Amino acid sequence: MPITADLASGLRDTIRGRVLVVGDEGYDAARSVWNAMIDRWPAAVVRPLDTSDVRASVLAAVARGLPVSVRGGGHNVAGHAVGDGALMLDLSELRGVEVDPVTRVAHVGGGATWGAVDAATQAHGLATPGGLISETGVGGLTLSGGIGWLRSAHGLAIDNLVGAEVVTADGSIVQATPDGSHADLLWALRGGGGNFGVVTRFDFALHRVGPTVSFCGPVYDLEAGAGPIRFWRDFLADKHDRVGSLVEFSTIPASPDYPEQSWGRRVYTVAAMFAGDGAEGETLLAPLRAQGPLVTDFSGQMAYVDVQRLFDAVAPFGAYRSYWKSRYLATLDDATIDGLLAHNARPPSSTTLSSIWNFGAATARVPAEATAFGDRSMSWMASFDSMWTDPADDAGNIAWTRAGWDALAPWAAGNRIYLNFPGHGEDADLTAQAFGAANLARLRAVKRCYDPTNVFRFNANIEP
Ligand SMILES: Cc1cc2nc3c(=O)[nH]c(=O)nc-3n(C[C@H](O)[C@H](O)[C@H](O)COP(=O)(O)OP(=O)(O)OC[C@H]3O[C@@H](n4cnc5c(N)ncnc54)[C@H](O)[C@@H]3O)c2cc1C
Repeated sequence: MPITADLASGLRDTIRGRVLVVGDEGYDAARSVWNAMIDRWPAAVVRPLDTSDVRASVLAAVARGLPVSVRGGGHNVAGHAVGDGALMLDLSELRGVEVDPVTRVAHVGGGATWGAVDAATQAHGLATPGGLISETGVGGLTLSGGIGWLRSAHGLAIDNLVGAEVVTADGSIVQATPDGSHADLLWALRGGGGNFGVVTRFDFALHRVGPTVSFCGPVYDLEAGAGPIRFWRDFLADKHDRVGSLVEFSTIPASPDYPEQSWGRRVYTVAAMFAGDGAEGETLLAPLRAQGPLVTDFSGQMAYVDVQRLFDAVAPFGAYRSYWKSRYLATLDDATIDGLLAHNARPPSSTTLSSIWNFGAATARVPAEATAFGDRSMSWMASFDSMWTDPADDAGNIAWTRAGWDALAPWAAGNRIYLNFPGHGEDADLTAQAFGAANLARLRAVKRCYDPTNVFRFNANIEP
């Protein structure tokens, strides 16, 4: 407590942003993150208003021997944004987005959400690849990869990261660019997570997208069996460069958006987006909707910004306890599909989601050593995203996720997980495999340079 009091009063004297400690109104809300299971107590929460507030906060924490956690959008399922006894930097005030339509670059505040980026860039008919849910933070999603609908055409979020401003552990404010200063740091930020400092500004390359795109979202009853998923797999074989897609297993909620007779049914949605010409996209994607009777169908030509928030309602902030795990798959053979169908027939919670994602095209064209993210040869990814409300159901839901994940081991593309879909911190040994040996060695060297005492350790941690 003396450290906390000293830290808080010191910071209140030096920065413009808010400083919250235990007992302050707003402290509990500020330490809450997307996953309702996470209940950690930072020494203080600081909401910087600008880069110099971030710098002063980092220096104040380091002077008192405190580690720093960084909150972008707070969506990390393992709760990396908040740490017991740490100084928590909540970047939610750094949410500005500036678009330069001439150079086609967006300058994005370190605490912005993807919804803000999409709104600002689409005002110019431009976009950069983000995720599938508009409320996720640009920070965490980008720093560990960033997989969204545009991945086939334009790669991962990191493949479009062309610059960044970073406050490092010694309080330096550095500009990382691909060819100039701190190029090694920019390389590390492309997949190495929040290990190297606080990113106060991300610069993203932009592409012409929309404003209208073709979306395909037929919903099949699980009893339709494997046919539509096998068709989807084969259909994509020569279309990975044109279509970002996933099959999502879910339970139909009791909602007027769905036919009443379908409430409670286990289903899967064969979702896909084509970002080119609307009529061409509709024709291209039509066969995915013709593989049997549909429970309902969300397909149509719609605004890109609407596609980007289509799934928001299934994963509201703070609503669910949650445990996720994913695996890259080398192949998606019939046995794998059958296994996924069987496992998804009986999740312990009706709000749980599970998905199969396609890769290839622009994502696959980036060499393993070009970004910290590592190898791009995976063809598919399966993710088990358990979400529930009652703490008494924790064990059952976690066991279900792990069992599904374990069962996929024979088809895995190496023992790799997507670091943005992590279990609760038990994946330390998998971090090394995620990057690959050569990239991990290079990441350690960058870490030693920018954060030698591991001030930024609330992440998929790369020890210096
Ligand atoms: C509902 C939901 C939907 C999702 N959908 C997708 C998806 O479609 N595609 C996808 O790829 N992922 C998706 N994810 C995973 C998502 O990418 C991760 O949860 C990611 O960590 C979220 O970023 P955040 O900034 O909100 O997280 P936070 O919890 O705030 O941060 C996560 C990590 O990033 C670090 N960090 C965040 N911002 C900064 C910064 N500015 N500087 C330095 N470090 C920073 C934090 O310290 C922490 O270690 C989803 C997650 C959820 C919960």
